[in-house]
Amino acid sequence: MPRLGSWIEPFPDGIYVRPADAWIDPAQPKPRALVTHGHGDHARGGHGEVFATPETLAIMGVRYGEQSGRPVAYGQSMRVGEVDVSFVPAGHVLGSAQIVLEHDGERVVVSGDYKRRPDPTCAPFDVTPCDIFVTEATFGLPVFKHPDTGSEIDRLLHRLHAEPERCVLVGAYALGKAQRVIMELRGRGHDEPIYIHGALERLCCLYEELGVPLGELRLATGVPKAELRGRIILCPPGALNDRWSRRLPEPITAMASGWMRIRQRARQRNVELPLVISDHADWDELTQTIREVAPKEVWITHGREEALMHWCQLHQIKARELNLVGYEDEDD
Ligand SMILES: [Zn+2]
Ligand SMILES: [Zn+2]
Repeated sequence: MPRLGSWIEPFPDGIYVRPADAWIDPAQPKPRALVTHGHGDHARGGHGEVFATPETLAIMGVRYGEQSGRPVAYGQSMRVGEVDVSFVPAGHVLGSAQIVLEHDGERVVVSGDYKRRPDPTCAPFDVTPCDIFVTEATFGLPVFKHPDTGSEIDRLLHRLHAEPERCVLVGAYALGKAQRVIMELRGRGHDEPIYIHGALERLCCLYEELGVPLGELRLATGVPKAELRGRIILCPPGALNDRWSRRLPEPITAMASGWMRIRQRARQRNVELPLVISDHADWDELTQTIREVAPKEVWITHGREEALMHWCQLHQIKARELNLVGYEDEDD
C-alpha cells in the first residue's frame, strides 16, 4: 500500500499536487497555482492560472494586476485533473482559505495561515476533518499565548485619551491587520475618523468594496499637525520610524503584531506601545485545532516546527516537517 499522501509532494518552493498538476502557494511562477490567501509570501505574481477565492483574486489583482484564473467561492467544489478541490475559510484575512484536496479516497487539508479568534473582517476558520493536515506553525511555541484582542484595543484607546495632545501611530500590515485594527476600534465604539498612510489606501478601499465597512478614513498625508492631535493614524510597519512620521504631533508609536509578545522585537522598532494582535493561531489554538481536525498525519510548515512535532509525538500523531522556503512574517 502506498504511503498516505504519496500524491502530494512538498518541494522547497511549494507543495506540488501531482494528479492535479498544480502547486499550492508556490514561491516561483508556475503554470497552475492554488493560492490560500493574498499575503505576499503565499500569493506571488506571474503564474499561468490561479485558483483562489474571489477575494484573494481581487487582492492579487490590486497587488500584481489582473490575474488569469478561476474564482472558487467557499464551499464550492471543483475538479482539477484527478483531484476534487475546495476552499474553506481559514479566518486569517479576507478571502483566506484552507485548501481541501480529495484523491484516491484520501483527504488532505492545507491550512495556509489561520487563526481561531473572531475577526470582524473575515469568515471564521472551518474545522475540516482529514487524513493529512498541513498546518502552519508561525507561533508554534508554548510561550505564545495571544491575549484577548479587545483588551489590547482598550489599551490603545486608553493611551490615546490619556495624552490628547499627541497622536497614536499604529504600525500594521497593509493586508488584513490594518483593516482588522480599524474594525476592532469601531467595535469598541471609536467612531472618529481614522487617519491612514497612503500605502494602506488601496487595500482599505478594496475591503470596503468587498463588504467590510471601515467607517470614516482620511489620508494622513498633508494634514496639519493640529488636526492630528488626539487621532489614531495607521501606517505600514516600515513607515513607523521613517521621515513620513516626523511630521506627526509627538506620535506614540504602537505596533499590532503577534511578535510584540517579544520585547526585543518591540525595541527594534522603537515601539512604545506594543499591541499583541495576531492573525495566526497561538500555541493553544494550534494544538486545539489539530485535536479537532483529528488527522492521521500532521505536516508542519512555516515557522517553529520542532515544538509542534514534539507535541504530536507525545499525542501519538504522526508528524513531519516540511522545509518550505520563502515564507516571511509579512502577516503576523
Ligand atoms: Zn504566511
Ligand atoms: Zn498570511
